[in-house]
Amino acid sequence: MIKDSQESVFEYMLSHKIHTKKDTRSIRSLYGEYCTGNLVVDTPYQRNFRWNRTKATRLIESILLNVPLPVVYIWTSEDGRLHVVDGKQRLLSVFKYIGGYWGEDAQEVFRLKRDGIGVEAFFPLIGKSYNELQTGIKSIIQNSDVQIIILDEPFRKEVQREVFSRINMAPTPLKEMEMRNSDYYGPYLQALKSLAQQPEYQKIVAIKPIQKVAMYDLEQVLRFAAFFHDGYQQYKGPLNNFLTADISKHQNDEDIDDLRAAFWQGFRDVVLLFGVHSFRRFYQGTFEHPDGGWPTEFAPLIHESFLYILSRYTTQEIEQRKDMLREALIHFMATNEEFIQVTASRNNASSHTTITRARFRLLERFVDAQMQKDDGGYRQEDKELLFDIPVCSVCKQTIKHIDDATPLIGKKEYWSQRLPENAVSFCHRFCESGATLNFE
Ligand SMILES: [Zn+2]
Repeated sequence: MIKDSQESVFEYMLSHKIHTKKDTRSIRSLYGEYCTGNLVVDTPYQRNFRWNRTKATRLIESILLNVPLPVVYIWTSEDGRLHVVDGKQRLLSVFKYIGGYWGEDAQEVFRLKRDGIGVEAFFPLIGKSYNELQTGIKSIIQNSDVQIIILDEPFRKEVQREVFSRINMAPTPLKEMEMRNSDYYGPYLQALKSLAQQPEYQKIVAIKPIQKVAMYDLEQVLRFAAFFHDGYQQYKGPLNNFLTADISKHQNDEDIDDLRAAFWQGFRDVVLLFGVHSFRRFYQGTFEHPDGGWPTEFAPLIHESFLYILSRYTTQEIEQRKDMLREALIHFMATNEEFIQVTASRNNASSHTTITRARFRLLERFVDAQMQKDDGGYRQEDKELLFDIPVCSVCKQTIKHIDDATPLIGKKEYWSQRLPENAVSFCHRFCESGATLNFE
């Protein structure tokens, strides 16, 4: 007998049916559960809290207008705890308002925002914290109902993720990293997350809070991990596919000791060289503004390539040539035309196959060549001594940043002699390249 082809549809539906039941809870009761830890808002595959106060204010206003709130999806674990599968942004917004504070550190009082209030009659509420509301208004918020759908079945990670990603096909699309986070949540991702969350890493990388919300920091660690696993020679753009391939291949890896060790090795080496300027690209000046310097902005392309290339050297090897290598790398970043091109911000997505490979290769060759040399006797402290009168001998203007000072062509031998009394003239890195042009 040939089965009716649509039979398989029914079979599939039966075996994959997601069992649910509906419930209604008041905000008071949900908030109570949240405070006792019985309602878990932070399920791992969800995106980070990203609403701002204006949006949260608008939600409070909707509640006061008795606008039905969108359904919240919850899963109950065996220990009876409720886990929010979808609805985190809404619930947290209300909970934060009732709790009184916006930020995580309970420093910033959450007051309703002007631009979140649309109904004129509600204008007296602008700037009011929850505690400043009249009792009657407070109880309207507390007694509002939230419709809940409970996933009524034992824990199945796939089901939760499936529900989460399907109901999230709606308004704000998930960013790529958030999507990967929900699709491939597992031991590997957890391990990468814990790397990204280390305070010493966060402190140096110092990405903006808004980027953190989109899991930008986690993406940086994943980028390193993918290059670590595959090597840059195998890289094939676009970057997003490269990253997704890595995470799906290693999804269930529990042992990432090698990766972790390489990550910290690279991190320590880079920070040993550049300190707070790590993972920024030193830039040289221009004709109009000859001063070069360090930008504050984190540069993903510098991050992944420096981390990867330097991770192959021990701390001791870097320590031995620290000053020389630092000076050489700054000069390389600032003046190597090829490297400047392949790290240009328009290539930030790291998507182009040949440009990306070239970036790693250029840096690798440069670092390897420096590590072959003896240290040249260059000492940062000698440079500091000489930098007392930081006037550029080409443009005659002040050199603002010592890292931007380079000995004028022809005086380079100084750097192998280590003699502070051997007079040397400095110039801007930019002016040096200008000087070269003039002499040629
Ligand atoms: Zn100059």
